[in-house]
Amino acid sequence: MSGIAFIVSAPSGSGKTTLCKMAADRFPDLRISVSYTTRKPRHGEVNGVDYWFVDEETFAAMVERGEFLEYADVYGKRYGTSRKDLEDLLEKGVSVILEIDVQGAAKVREKLEGGVFVFVLPPSLKAAEERLVARGKDTTEEIRRRLGIAAGEIKRAVDYDYIVINDDLRRAFEEFSAVITAEKSRSCRMAGKLKELFGGLVG
Ligand code: ADP
Ligand code: 5GP
Repeated sequence: MSGIAFIVSAPSGSGKTTLCKMAADRFPDLRISVSYTTRKPRHGEVNGVDYWFVDEETFAAMVERGEFLEYADVYGKRYGTSRKDLEDLLEKGVSVILEIDVQGAAKVREKLEGGVFVFVLPPSLKAAEERLVARGKDTTEEIRRRLGIAAGEIKRAVDYDYIVINDDLRRAFEEFSAVITAEKSRSCRMAGKLKELFGGLVG
């Protein structure tokens, strides 16, 4: 029994975190992976829930010990996914969302079999900017820095298995949920269930 890894990338302000949290609420066997980062917590963010917030030395030591499945520098800070945290969940049959940037996703594609790659887009760059301003948690300079990188990130959308355009949140969430449901129903992932229900009939 193994859970599914959903790798979700998006330009900042697309609504990726919002959609992932909604999915984790809807699907009881789905968790969001908690990454490590050297960025400072935003107002309201909780250590161990939104991220593990660590200093540069701690992050560098984890890199040195090979503890990350992938890590990348994003918007001037370091972010990484713990290999052990992810493997422990997948082995228990729990599916996991990795909210990671395009560099990290490319590394996961090389290292992990069976991942499902989803790219979330805002309806426009202007909308992404407006959402980041309305979110009110980043400085004007930080928002500018993030939007400056967005065009390069959007070019990578075609490398992903699915694209969800987050214009209307409810509609986008139904699309994202449909992807999750369809992936869970793939026949290659149903062997255990088939055996449980029909035993000898399915070998
Ligand atoms: P990301 O993780 O992609 O940077 P967030 O999920 O933090 O983005 O969303 C950025 C802001 O946009 C948040 O304030 C969120 O509530 C809002 N938001 C998310 N989706 C939509 C949407 N479809 N329409 C309008 N605002 C949205
Ligand atoms: P934020 O600072 O807005 O929380 O995240 C900034 C960017 O870092 C987002 O694109 C997010 O997906 C990415 N990110 C978060 N965690 C990880 C991670 O563990 N690895 C990588 N490569 N990117 C991450």
